[in-house]
Amino acid sequence: MNNYHIDTKCIQEGYQPKNGEARVVPIYQSTTYKYDSSEHVGKLFDLVEEGFFYTRLANPTVDYVEKKIAALEGGVGAMCTSSGQAASLIAVINICSAGDHLISAGTIYGGTFNLFAVTLKRMGIDVSFVDADASIEELQKEIKDNTKLIFAETIANPALAIADIEKLSTLAHNNGVPLIVDNTFATPINCRPIEFGADIVIHSTSKYMDGHAVALGGVIVDSGNFNWDNGKFPGLSTPDASYHGMVYTRDCGKTAFITKARVQLMRDLGSTPSPNNAFLLNIGLETLHLRMERHCSNALTVAKYLEKQDKISWVNYPGLENNKYYDLAQKYLPNGTCGVISFGIKGGREAAIKFMDSLKLAAIVVHVADARTGVLHPASTTHRQLTDQQLIDCGITPDLIRMSIGIENVDDIVADIEQSLEKL
Ligand SMILES: *Cc1c(COP(=O)(O)O)cnc(C)c1O
Repeated sequence: MNNYHIDTKCIQEGYQPKNGEARVVPIYQSTTYKYDSSEHVGKLFDLVEEGFFYTRLANPTVDYVEKKIAALEGGVGAMCTSSGQAASLIAVINICSAGDHLISAGTIYGGTFNLFAVTLKRMGIDVSFVDADASIEELQKEIKDNTKLIFAETIANPALAIADIEKLSTLAHNNGVPLIVDNTFATPINCRPIEFGADIVIHSTSKYMDGHAVALGGVIVDSGNFNWDNGKFPGLSTPDASYHGMVYTRDCGKTAFITKARVQLMRDLGSTPSPNNAFLLNIGLETLHLRMERHCSNALTVAKYLEKQDKISWVNYPGLENNKYYDLAQKYLPNGTCGVISFGIKGGREAAIKFMDSLKLAAIVVHVADARTGVLHPASTTHRQLTDQQLIDCGITPDLIRMSIGIENVDDIVADIEQSLEKL
């Protein structure tokens, strides 16, 4: 389906029914699959024949969605996971093991930060958090002999920093390691990191891809472009004793990375999505292109409105011309960034809480990136254990409000903000 526009792929890729079959992706609510001979099942295990044998490893409903997402991102294969966190973990430990090191942008999602700083550290994987805006020469100094990958988010949650993907992929490739990009906030509608040199793309599909806040999920997409056979990745280029001596680079070619992630790590970790959640994700994907357009235009309108209000001290949205990341946003996300904005209210913490509690349409939620407008005041909720100084250190000022702009009529969203500001 290579010649179709991405909008068409959102709807048509993945599942292509034959004569008389269900028009819509069926939910294969089955853990197991029936075969006529043991010999056939043996061939499935040996990966010499394609097919399904156990839903922990693969399921037809999930498989259709994986094919669609691989096509949207321009990869050779994809694997869905039970959550975005599982996708981040599997993508990293498919490459790194105890004694290895990775470099991550410092401004990333809090859950990923904890995974890297606490859990990976405990597993013996060392992580350096860097200022991803630094020059390639500065960043080169962070590379060590045991560095195995570089990690960044296209649009950081919640800092809304934009990654210079070409710079980071050049740095990675100069050092014989891959670049992994978390593309959750941008979605493949607004940016396809593989086109700028990213080797692996991951998502929390719980956000815009699902888009309706109904199903947790994650996905890993393999570009197929990275050469794992350069001596740095023995896990991919030497025999896997746990899979009767399979050498992923030799036996799987371009899909070495994603095959190992599935037959070795998904086999062992079992963070598999349910077929029902994959079905819901697929419905979300069918309107992703339409929803992203509206999320972005609504967010830009709200950001411009907020900029003009006396009671607002600052607005952070990479679609605004005065934003630090405007130029990078124009380069990597020319059609729009995302629906999330952050801003500060004069009067700090107290005013922020009063403003939030007075909103009627926008609900207070921890989630972002679904159809409904939501707000969060990190200083009084997710980050309430931190002092004001600690908050500032991690880029969250006490007055910061994160607003995830939904796809309602933007006049109603602005009117809601207006009536709430009037109460301050
Ligand atoms: C939410 C999120 C995650 C984690 O995903 P879950 O589906 O909640 O596990 C990872 N990365 C980013 C950028 C996110 O926003």
